[in-house]
Amino acid sequence: MLKKQDHQIAKLIDLEAERQKTSLEMIPSENHSSLAVREALGSLLTDKYAEGYPGKRYYAGLKYYDILEDLCRDRAKKLFKVLHVNVQPYSGSPANAAVYMAVCEPGDTIMGMALPMGGHLTHGWKVNFSAKFFKSVQYGVYEKTGLLNYEEVEKLAKDNKPKLIFVGATAYPRIFDWKRLGKIADSVGAYLVADIAHIAGLVAGGAHPSPVPFVHIVTTTTHKTLRGPRGGIIMVTQKGLDKDSELAKKVDRAIFPGFQGGPHMHQIAAIAVCLKEASTPAFKKYAKQIVKNAKALAKGLKEYGFNLVSGGTDNHLILIDLRNKNIGGPEAQNLLEEAGITINKNSIPYDPAPPFKPSGIRMGTPAITTRGMKEKDMKKIAGWINEVISNPKSVKKVRQEIKKFCENFPLPR
Ligand SMILES: *Cc1c(COP(=O)(O)O)cnc(C)c1O
Repeated sequence: MLKKQDHQIAKLIDLEAERQKTSLEMIPSENHSSLAVREALGSLLTDKYAEGYPGKRYYAGLKYYDILEDLCRDRAKKLFKVLHVNVQPYSGSPANAAVYMAVCEPGDTIMGMALPMGGHLTHGWKVNFSAKFFKSVQYGVYEKTGLLNYEEVEKLAKDNKPKLIFVGATAYPRIFDWKRLGKIADSVGAYLVADIAHIAGLVAGGAHPSPVPFVHIVTTTTHKTLRGPRGGIIMVTQKGLDKDSELAKKVDRAIFPGFQGGPHMHQIAAIAVCLKEASTPAFKKYAKQIVKNAKALAKGLKEYGFNLVSGGTDNHLILIDLRNKNIGGPEAQNLLEEAGITINKNSIPYDPAPPFKPSGIRMGTPAITTRGMKEKDMKKIAGWINEVISNPKSVKKVRQEIKKFCENFPLPR
């Protein structure tokens, strides 16, 4: 149908399908969603307005949508073991914005990990609303070890008495000590929010400790390791309700009518499908394989002399400091893209280079693990990455090898 009606867009989708099929998607925030997820996402549910929540809507004709949203919420509650969820955030950033809106007033002090240290824009980085509307205090990692500086978090919390502390990352290869963070937040009476956008699939699959017992609120995206459609979820824990019995209501009111209008019901349907998938034993195996693959890739890269921030990985991602390789992040990104390996340039902690030309690259295993790759394949990929970076002339040859290699690992379609 699309081909007939809009050949330009149809053509671009075909080209992108071919690109995905013949290259290795190794950006750690990306994945390949299932056909079932995409069928729900592409459904006629996109046509309806459903402002409000199940049982209390501002539009008519929604009898099936209430059942659907309840199903989605129940699946999320069960999977993450939380008491309340909101599945309406359009994506991760709006989910975080709504959390601020739920528990803070403009001008309140908030804390988060600085973007160049591995945090997210919405955790109080200077160009983001979270720093414009709130007084943002930023923590980071140790320069020497690359590990989260819990002592700094504690000191800054004591000195600044924030209303809310965000913890979560886009480029942190290690496990978070939620218990220790919970104690710090409690000692100053702050709300503690775990943003598990990157690691939600690992948490769901038991491959990363869950923050749920130690934090008040959890936010996540649904399209990274969780492998769903683009989207966001906010969860409220028992600890959150113990601190603030109104917290669930505050979160819901912050999303609608505070921050958003009509929820994307086709997206919520697709999130429900993804949550069902993430509840299976097969997904547990998948989550564990993501980490095994990341560890195997890290080992392979280290053998070629790559300098990994924090020395390795506990999760799905690897951050490489390229300064000993005489190549910048952007050049490495471009060369690898030409060879069929999609990774991205990334600042490393205490990067002397500017954010647009950073000294590092970031890569991860969620998408290639979805395609069925295992540890032995990671060894090959480490070899290709090394070959391309140490000898740019090899790009064309490696491109052919990767094309061939990809034929063994079909995408979900
Ligand atoms: C990806 C990410 C987000 C934002 O998600 P979007 O869907 O891009 O808005 C928020 N927090 C963290 C830690 C992330 O990694």
